[in-house]
Amino acid sequence: MDSSSRSTSDGRRPVRTVLGEIPYESLGITDAHNHVWIDPIPGADPAAPVLDQYGKIIAELKLYRAAGGGSLLDCQPGGCGRNANRLFELSGASGVHIIACTGFHRQKYYAAGHWLFTTSPEQATQYFSRELTSALEETRDQPEPVRAGFIKIALESAWDDSFQPGLEAAAEAAHQTGSLVEIHTEKGGLAEKVAIYFEDHALSPGQLVLCHMDKRPDPGLHVELARFGVLLEYDTFYRPKYEPESRLWTLIENMVEAGLSKHVALATDMAEAGMYKTIGDGPGLASLPTEIKMRLVKMGISESSIQQMLGGNIARRLAGLD
Ligand SMILES: [Zn+2]
Repeated sequence: MDSSSRSTSDGRRPVRTVLGEIPYESLGITDAHNHVWIDPIPGADPAAPVLDQYGKIIAELKLYRAAGGGSLLDCQPGGCGRNANRLFELSGASGVHIIACTGFHRQKYYAAGHWLFTTSPEQATQYFSRELTSALEETRDQPEPVRAGFIKIALESAWDDSFQPGLEAAAEAAHQTGSLVEIHTEKGGLAEKVAIYFEDHALSPGQLVLCHMDKRPDPGLHVELARFGVLLEYDTFYRPKYEPESRLWTLIENMVEAGLSKHVALATDMAEAGMYKTIGDGPGLASLPTEIKMRLVKMGISESSIQQMLGGNIARRLAGLD
């Protein structure tokens, strides 16, 4: 049995960071969806974000760490800019636990004809599983190969345009390894559909994180999805076009009042370099443990609910609990 499926009697597994396994209790404040490195991809959408200013990214991560940030999930899968050798170095240099992913992003972020999109579900399953249990492709020959800590996948706006063999493969690899699946939704679209799809494919709702759900601020839907058992990720704090004051912050309030803070994970999703403090003088990664946390405190939300939304929930799910 390989170490990825090792678990204790209560079912918990260690969390696989880029520097190795750690207990979930060590993650601390954890940004549930972010980006700390994206290599440029020749042939991909020219508007695709790039994050490759090594020194500034280290400085940004150090600011995050100094502000009380402990960990983050890097949501760039292989083939569209992930560079796990960089993630390894960035984590070592900053002290931030980084959890890397396997899986697939929206097709426009890859060079035309990328092999993954013509492969069979079986081959894609093997690839995802290998990255979870053995090594991320680009670190295969390293003395300390990096493993993926979760699966990140992306839906397109329409179900039929989404990468079906990839969905099947993600379900199978998550089933085999017990891994968490973070699902990019297009502004919350297809959330109900994808939750049911994975349940039909033998995953527990506890293995699912629906991303960018605050772009679809329907309070009834959020309550229903939370009761179903999935984790809802919100991240439009610094995106004025999504009116975070009236939507995101109200959603947080509603979910806490409904007793569902266990089903919310907060993040800042700063794929655009301009959102970094050290690169674009933006709010920066450190906004989560500072500004955002302070506002939650000011709202009168209990310490335990804040702890859940700022990392506790995602940590437990990475460990296979809940
Ligand atoms: Zn993202």
